[in-house]
Amino acid sequence: MARVVRSVVRSFKAKYWKEAAAFVKLGGHAVYWESPNRARLVVPAPKQNDDWTDLGIWSIFDLGLDRWTVRKDGKFPGLATVKVPDDALHIVRRRAERDSIHPEATRKVSFDCLACGACCRDNEVVLDDEDKARFREAGREDLLKKPWSKRKDGKVILTLKENGRCHHLKRDNKCAIYTIRPGACSVFPVASECCIAAREYELETYDGLAPEVWPWGD
Ligand code: SF4
Ligand code: SF4
Repeated sequence: MARVVRSVVRSFKAKYWKEAAAFVKLGGHAVYWESPNRARLVVPAPKQNDDWTDLGIWSIFDLGLDRWTVRKDGKFPGLATVKVPDDALHIVRRRAERDSIHPEATRKVSFDCLACGACCRDNEVVLDDEDKARFREAGREDLLKKPWSKRKDGKVILTLKENGRCHHLKRDNKCAIYTIRPGACSVFPVASECCIAAREYELETYDGLAPEVWPWGD
């Protein structure tokens, strides 16, 4: 069981930018609506750009982005912001709806990965050079070929079973190659927005309000 403090997500209209900045300084994530169809995600500035334990970074990854700006001035000095892509507005709306029942800027959660396994389903794990070297050193070069892996768009990715589960995910939700698992798997943080979204999508487990309208499509 992993116990983690996660950021709560709150929506703010344009005129409430001071409240949005104060909320983020308390550890929350703000969805700042510059207009009804234009939003900015504001999160605490990561201490390092490659700090994979930083849940703010993962809240940006979950929008399909990998860059952010730390403002020096303006409404959000010292905080990290990104413009939310139009095709991700439903994601930030959903986060704020989910967290509308949580009163503080952060909350403690306890997630049991062995009762979950959601992030090991319907995913796309890309194998990098370090993963390939690790497999070879462990005498498991076979993991780079079918049925375990395949090529897609010039990359090598793990394959999934027909039911969407990773080939390495055992029935008890343990990883069959845990000690040599891909880097993307080992850095994936519990209670990140990617984790919470996977739990909603795969298990219909909500850390907050259930969606009024299913936001992820069919
Ligand atoms: S989705 Fe989250 S809680 Fe579930 S197995 Fe993955 S990291 Fe653990
Ligand atoms: S390799 Fe292991 S940790 Fe990674 S997705 Fe598959 S089962 Fe999950």
